[in-house]
Amino acid sequence: MASHVVGYPRVGPNRELKFALESFWHRMSTAEDLLEAGAHLKSSIWKQMAAVNIKYIPSNTFSCYDQVLDITAMLGAVPPRYGWNGGKIGFDVYFSMARGTASVPAMEMTKWFDTNYHYIVPELGPDVNFSYASRKAVKECKEAKKLGVDTVPVLLGPVSYLLLSKPAKGVETTFSPLSLLRKYFPSTVVSELKAAGASWIQFDEPALVLDLDSHQLQAFTEAYSELESCLSSVNVLVETYFADVPAEAYKVLTSLKGVTGFGFDLVRGTDILDLIKGGFPTGKYLFAGVVDGRNIWANDLAGSLSTLHALESIVGKDKLVVSTSCSLLHTPVDLVNETELDEEIKSWFAFAAQKVVEVNALAKALAGEKDEEFFSANAAAQASRKSSPRVTNEAVQKAAAALRGSDHCRATTVSARLHAQQKKLNLPVLPTTTIGSFPQTIELRRVRREYKAKKISEEEYVKAIKEEINKVVKLQEELDIDVLVHGEPERNDIIEYFGEQLLGFAFTMNGWVQSYGSHCVKPPIVYGDVSRPKPMTVFWSTMAQSMTARPVKGMLTGPVTILNWSFVRNDQPRSETCYQIALAIKDEVDDLEKAGINVIQIDEAALREGLPLRKSEQTFYLDWAVHSFRITNCGVKDTTQIHTHVCYSHFNDISRLIIDMDADVITTENVSPDGKLLLISCEGVEYLARIGPSLRITSAEEIADGITKTFDWREPKRVWVIPDCLLKTREYTEVKPALANMVTATKHVRAQL
Ligand code: GLN
Ligand code: ZN
Repeated sequence: MASHVVGYPRVGPNRELKFALESFWHRMSTAEDLLEAGAHLKSSIWKQMAAVNIKYIPSNTFSCYDQVLDITAMLGAVPPRYGWNGGKIGFDVYFSMARGTASVPAMEMTKWFDTNYHYIVPELGPDVNFSYASRKAVKECKEAKKLGVDTVPVLLGPVSYLLLSKPAKGVETTFSPLSLLRKYFPSTVVSELKAAGASWIQFDEPALVLDLDSHQLQAFTEAYSELESCLSSVNVLVETYFADVPAEAYKVLTSLKGVTGFGFDLVRGTDILDLIKGGFPTGKYLFAGVVDGRNIWANDLAGSLSTLHALESIVGKDKLVVSTSCSLLHTPVDLVNETELDEEIKSWFAFAAQKVVEVNALAKALAGEKDEEFFSANAAAQASRKSSPRVTNEAVQKAAAALRGSDHCRATTVSARLHAQQKKLNLPVLPTTTIGSFPQTIELRRVRREYKAKKISEEEYVKAIKEEINKVVKLQEELDIDVLVHGEPERNDIIEYFGEQLLGFAFTMNGWVQSYGSHCVKPPIVYGDVSRPKPMTVFWSTMAQSMTARPVKGMLTGPVTILNWSFVRNDQPRSETCYQIALAIKDEVDDLEKAGINVIQIDEAALREGLPLRKSEQTFYLDWAVHSFRITNCGVKDTTQIHTHVCYSHFNDISRLIIDMDADVITTENVSPDGKLLLISCEGVEYLARIGPSLRITSAEEIADGITKTFDWREPKRVWVIPDCLLKTREYTEVKPALANMVTATKHVRAQL
C-alpha cells in the first residue's frame, strides 16, 4: 500500500529559510550561503519522509520565494521591465520579480486560492516566448537522488498556471493568458526529469476545483493530450485540492489520457467520494487526500481508514495511494518544538511532520500492518478531545444556539443614526481619522516583550504604554485630526491580542506558516467554545479618552477576521465558532459604550478571505459572516458610531455584504489597483480617501484631488478622510508628514465646499 505527500512546508522548523533569505537580501551572506541553507532544508525534508516510508516523496516543492514564480522562471516569462536578456535566471532577476528593486516595482502578489499564502501573479502577453530558463525542477530531482531518495517532481500544471496569470500591461482587456496553452509545452523539462530518473511527475491543477466554463475545461483535455506523447514511460499524477472537483470537471479530468493518477482533497471535498463511487477509470491510481493539509488537527485515523476501505473496493488495493488533502505548506512544521503547550491539548494536534507519519500509518494499516499502539493512542486523543471540559462550555453553546433565527439589526436606520451621532459628536464635514495603529518603535516592542517575559512589572508596563498613548494622542491633536485613536501600542498582532484574552484559544511558540516570501504568520488555534472572561480593551481606550476632549475610537478586531486568521476547530461548523466569537466581541462593544466610548471601530480586515472558492457556497458564507458582524453591535445606542474597516480594494463583487453589515462608517481604499475609483453606492455608508498606496508620501494637492474625486459618486457629507491601515509597520518620519498633508488637504477642500 502506497503513501504520498502533496507538498511540504519549506520555511524550516525554526524558520531557517526566512533568516537565510533576509540575511542574503541585506547582503550579510552570499548566494552560496542561501543555496546551502536551501540544500540543507530540502535534504532534511526528503530524509524525514524517507525515514517514515513515504513512497511518493515530492521534490521541487521547495522554493526560495514562491512555487508559481518558479514556473515563471522555468518558462522564462520575465516581464520586460526587469531587463532580463535571456540565459539562465539567477537570484538577481528572480528576486527583482518577487520584491522589486529601487527603480522597478515587484510583480503583483495575490492570495493562493482561499489560503493565507500569496503567490506572484504571472504577467503574460501575446509576445511572450516561453523558453527553458530555469532547470530547478530537474536539479532538485537529481539532488534528492544523490541523497538516495527517489522523488516525484512537482510542477504547477499548465492550465492552472495560465488561469492564475493575468494579462500583461496594455492588453488587459484583449488578451487571455489561456490562449498561450499551445506555446506552453514543458516537454523538455519532462524528458529531463525522466532522464534524471523520475518515474512519476505530479502536475498540480488546483484550478480544477473552481467554477470553470466549458472552454476552460476543454483546455485540460488539450493540454494533457498535447503532453501525452512526451509523457509515455512516465506516470503522471494530476493533483487537485482545496475543494471537490465539480461533476463536470471530474468527468474531464478522469478522461484525460496519458494521466495515470488523480489526486483529490477528501477533507474539504465532501462530494468527491460520491463522484468516485459513481465511476473511476479502471487501472488508474487514486491519490486519496485524507490527511488535512489546511488545519492542525490530528487525523481521525479510524474514520480515514473506513473511507480508504470504501475507496479500495472501488479502485482496487494496488491502485489506492494514501495522501494529504493538499500541500502541507499551509500547516506549521513540527509539533515537537511546542514545549509550552498543555499536554492534553497538544495530543489533539498534528503539524506537517506528524501528518507525514499519519499518512504512512494509514497506508500500513490498509496493507494489513496496522500499528495498533499508534492507532489506539490516536483514538484516545480523539476521545479526549470530544469529551474534554476544556472544549465545551454549555453557557456559550446555549447563547450561540439562541442566536439562530433572529436577525440582529440595529434599532433604527443608518441615516437616523448618523443624525443622532452628529448631534453628539459635532464633527466637521469630511472628518479625519486613522485606521488605528501608530508606528511601533523597537523600544515599544522591547517593553511588550519584557512584560511578557515578566522582566518588568505590570506597573512599569502600564506606565510605558500610557506614555506612548499620550504621545500618540497629543500628536493627533497637534495634527488636528478629528476622531483620535490610542495607537494600539499594547498589541503585537490584531488577532493574537484578542485570542490571548479569550477562552478557547491556544497559542504555539513556533507554529509559523509561510504567508509570502520570508513573511510567516503564527495563527492562534481555536480549540474550544469561545468566551470573554473580562474586558479586553476598555482600560486602554478609556485611558486614551481621558487624555483628550476629542472623541477616541475604541478599536476591536471583528469576529470574521479573528476566525479567518486562526486555525479553527473542525468539530463544529465555522459559522458556529464565528457566532461564539461575535458574542464575545459584543460583550466588549457593550462595555466600551458603557465606559463612555462613543465611536467604536470593529475591524473586519479579513472579511473577504473566507469567501468560498465556488459561487454556490458564497451566499451562505456572506450570510453568516455579515450576521456575525451585526451581532457585535446590534445592541448599541443610536448615538454610538460603529466604524468598520475592510482591507483590499476588490469588493465590487461583494458590495451587498458591505451594505448588509450596516455599519455607520466603512473605511477601505477608494482606489482600485488600476487607479479607477470604486463605485459602490450604499445608502448611508460613509467613505474615505487615502494617503497613498505605497511608502511614498502623497502631496496635499494629490490628496485634495483624491477627496474631490470621491464627490463624483458620493455626497461630501458622506466622506471621511483616512490614511492607509497598518501605520504600525511604518516610521514616524513618513507618517507625520503624510498625516499633516492629509489634514491640510482636507481643510483646503472643506473651505471650498
Ligand atoms: N487597526 C489595524 C491597524 O490600523 C487594522 C489592521 C488592518 O487593517 N490590517 O493596523
Ligand atoms: Zn486594512
